[in-house]
Amino acid sequence: MTAAPETDAELPGYWAALGLPGIVDVHVHLMPDRLQQKVWEYFDAAGPLLGRPWPVQYREDMSARLGRLRAMGVQAFTGLLYPHKPDMAAGLNAWAAEFAAQTPGCLHTATFFPEESAADYVREAIEAGARVFKAHVQVGGYDPRDELLDRVWGLLAEAGVPVVAHVGGGPTATAFTGPAVFGEVLARHPQLPAIVAHLGMPEFEGFVELGRRHPAVRFDVTGVFTKFGDDLWPFPRAEARAVLTELGDRILFGSDYPTMPNTYAEQVAAVAELDLGDEWLRAVFRENALTLWPDLQL
Ligand SMILES: [Zn+2]
Repeated sequence: MTAAPETDAELPGYWAALGLPGIVDVHVHLMPDRLQQKVWEYFDAAGPLLGRPWPVQYREDMSARLGRLRAMGVQAFTGLLYPHKPDMAAGLNAWAAEFAAQTPGCLHTATFFPEESAADYVREAIEAGARVFKAHVQVGGYDPRDELLDRVWGLLAEAGVPVVAHVGGGPTATAFTGPAVFGEVLARHPQLPAIVAHLGMPEFEGFVELGRRHPAVRFDVTGVFTKFGDDLWPFPRAEARAVLTELGDRILFGSDYPTMPNTYAEQVAAVAELDLGDEWLRAVFRENALTLWPDLQL
């Protein structure tokens, strides 16, 4: 086993020791500055919400944030963004398309909200080359079974474009988070290449069961297995290790960078310390993502 990194500065050496030229992070958030500031304000205020502070680690301007990502050896990353109200997603999609076009390593991302125009702007985004979508059921406060989204899920399933789906009940549940509701979406759209964010935290078991039923479903490990994640919703290790081995080719690394409550190295170490072997780590940090986006030039 390669020793886990303790600091961000050790990350490039850690990848090299694993035999990787760099990694793919499927859960990075990059958004227009005004929206980013609002998100950070939300997390700053999340102390009372969670009964604990959420110390945003990488609050820097965009060029510093991107430079840091590359310096840590993250060769490709999503730039996820998401709306919290109607009439917002199409504008975000325009921003994201332009941003990705001028940002090496950034996957072209898009998003949606249950609204009349959703199917049209999602189709346009796919035609314009969007490689990954983000659905934030909790922040959006919507029902993913909303009939305005049925065509959206269908389009993503047909095109085979992955959607990072925050559908678990962490950090705060809504009436529409959890495996039962999203299971209905998957039952209607079994080919949907959903990437269940945060391993479905805190409903790990229910989402893993959905993954077993739907081979197109993947998972990201964002926020799981860290001290912060364990304090809130631990995923018992023996159970987690069994599940992560079983679904090994469908587990993807994600960090929530820059709005993460711990350092990047801590998230990497949390995954490394699961002790599932270097081959499993190479798959999770890089190779599994390259099966989703085989034409990535890394
Ligand atoms: Zn996120």
